[in-house]
Amino acid sequence: MTASTTVFVSGATGFIAKHVVKDLIKKNYNVVGSVRSSEKGDHLAEQLNSDKFCYEVVADISVPGAFDQCLKNHPEITVFLHTASPFHFYTDNVENDLLKPAIEGTHNALNAIKKYGPQIERVVITSSVAAMASFEQLSNPNHVVNENSWNEINWEKAISNPFDGYFGSKTFAEKAAWDFVKTEKPNFILSTVNPSYVFGPQAFDEDAKGTLGTSAEVITGLLRLRKEEDIPNQRATFIDVRDVSNAHIVAFESDDAKEKRLVLIAAKEFSSQELLDIIHSNFDQFSEVPVGKPGTKSGQDGCIMDTKETLNILKTEFIGLEKSVVDSIQQYSNANN
Ligand code: NDP
Repeated sequence: MTASTTVFVSGATGFIAKHVVKDLIKKNYNVVGSVRSSEKGDHLAEQLNSDKFCYEVVADISVPGAFDQCLKNHPEITVFLHTASPFHFYTDNVENDLLKPAIEGTHNALNAIKKYGPQIERVVITSSVAAMASFEQLSNPNHVVNENSWNEINWEKAISNPFDGYFGSKTFAEKAAWDFVKTEKPNFILSTVNPSYVFGPQAFDEDAKGTLGTSAEVITGLLRLRKEEDIPNQRATFIDVRDVSNAHIVAFESDDAKEKRLVLIAAKEFSSQELLDIIHSNFDQFSEVPVGKPGTKSGQDGCIMDTKETLNILKTEFIGLEKSVVDSIQQYSNANN
């Protein structure tokens, strides 16, 4: 890839995607981002303030042909990063609100590339560790997850509740992408990025105001708790958003990443207690937030993550939990004061 390469980023206004777009521009790539409205596109363009960025409106990735016009308008695109997918648990229609956009969005992206972007060489899809194992398996200290693992979830379980719906959406969407490559034999090479829960600062300080996205809210939600309130029993593996962004770029720049799944996990499971401990040992201003039982991690170690292949490709050390949480809270506090 050269500095004149043009990269398409779907869902460019997302928490992860904004970092990716910012980092791509820093590396001198040209970026075409898809956004849901021209208002959102104009705002992002203002934030980025770069002539290397332009946007296309794709209001809903699940509509057939959603990406066709973007690719017709930009024959210069040679790399396609598909990050857009719904990530929330607030729906009573899992099929429509989570599964359909994730799966159809992926189909629509790949079909558009096949039809209107034969010059596209590399495609990277943002998947998740949710596509690699069930929540129960991810929490089981005897279960091993590596780059070849798949969540065995079926459709029936996926539509039973929003949490499983999200796990299903990521699993079925990623499977659809690998199946597409196998059956359609397109010109491009596919790679995926499979992050754990993503923490870390927003790409722009002003975006740290108010209620944040699903993963960032795990931290900021704790800051709003008061002493008498229950502490949510949250635990999962984590990765910092700056490492996720870097992995998206390595995924298309590196020959070693061709046809690979890059699994991003910085450490064993975090628990709410661990997050509270980090809050209280680094910030005095949150004395109203419950302390819980300091030092008693209140979680298990999680499954065994055997991600040697990913680490060999990325050749980087991941940002640790404490730095990620402290940087997030610092930014959040400044933005909301
Ligand atoms: P965000 O919600 O911040 O970003 C999602 C992006 O997708 C937004 O720009 C959103 O647009 C867009 N989008 C969602 N649904 C549609 C739709 N139907 N049509 C058009 N655009 C749509 O989430 P994240 O940045 O956290 O997530 C980005 C990707 O990373 C997702 O694929 C997610 O599954 C994956 N991921 C995230 C993790 C995390 O912890 N954050 C962990 C593992 C994977 P808008 O905001 O305008 O609705």
